Amino acid sequence: MIDVINLEKSFGDNKVLNGINITIDKGDIMVVIGPSGSGKSTFLRCLNCMEDPTGGQIIFNGVDIADPKVDINIHRRHMGMVFQHFNLYNNKTVIQNIMLAPVYVRCQDLKKAKRHNLLLPVTNLFRKEKQTKQEITTTKSEIIAEAHAKAEELLKRIGLEDKADVYPSTLSGGQKQRVAIVRALAMNPDVILFDEPTSALDPEMVGEVLDLMKALADEGMTMIIVTHEMGFAREVANKVIFIDDGQILESGTPEEFFGNPKNPRLKDFLSKVL
Ligand code: ATP
Ligand code: MG
Repeated sequence: MIDVINLEKSFGDNKVLNGINITIDKGDIMVVIGPSGSGKSTFLRCLNCMEDPTGGQIIFNGVDIADPKVDINIHRRHMGMVFQHFNLYNNKTVIQNIMLAPVYVRCQDLKKAKRHNLLLPVTNLFRKEKQTKQEITTTKSEIIAEAHAKAEELLKRIGLEDKADVYPSTLSGGQKQRVAIVRALAMNPDVILFDEPTSALDPEMVGEVLDLMKALADEGMTMIIVTHEMGFAREVANKVIFIDDGQILESGTPEEFFGNPKNPRLKDFLSKVL
């Protein structure tokens, strides 16, 4: 699904990613570990081009999204992202947070389709090839109604249907992060990227977020997760990678990775965190 080839990222003279190569297959649960400042967040942010890579390729569903000529917005909608600090819109209610992206994206598509149909007679004068009008079967109010129904279903899934109309500031950290996760799900993504999703939570709330992530893993969602939760990595991941100095120094199944680490820096790292 994602082929990362010689990915590089520099900030000025600071080379943060130094040739990352990894393949993520559909259904993979890949956990990324590594010391602070090693480039884990930068790696995730490059994967969906929130940061522009300075070298290499990211082949996502057959398209190199690191290529500046590619319209990243079309591809990014298939990649969800969950952040350490939730990044919910505090001036929007819970349900508005979940509906925002799907409504925006589908309304943009609708506008494009309408514009395409309006322009067709004109463009046809200049173009030899046959163009067909797109059948427009949706309206804006239908898009909103569908997004609302889906958001309600997602809130029910996490047991927060009674919180639909409250603002995020009234939720606990664990509730906020579960809302952020279903907000990502509302776009039906192919993959979800998680950057330390439990690091900002009080310990008693970590479990509810990890349980939701485990459930998604069981359903076959493809996930890439930067985390310090080694128990989760052992239990749920099928690939674990260790990043240090912007390179993958070791990768393997959790059994190999934790049971028989080879790289001295990984051994040292594990001796501190396990
Ligand atoms: P942590 O575990 O603390 O979250 P990390 O592994 O996620 O660390 P990154 O946040 O990817 O590390 O940062 C790697 C390096 O890149 C650091 O030296 C950081 O200062 C630098 N860096 C990250 N983002 C930027 C930026 N926008 N501008 C300049 N330097 C940056
Ligand atoms: Mg980070």
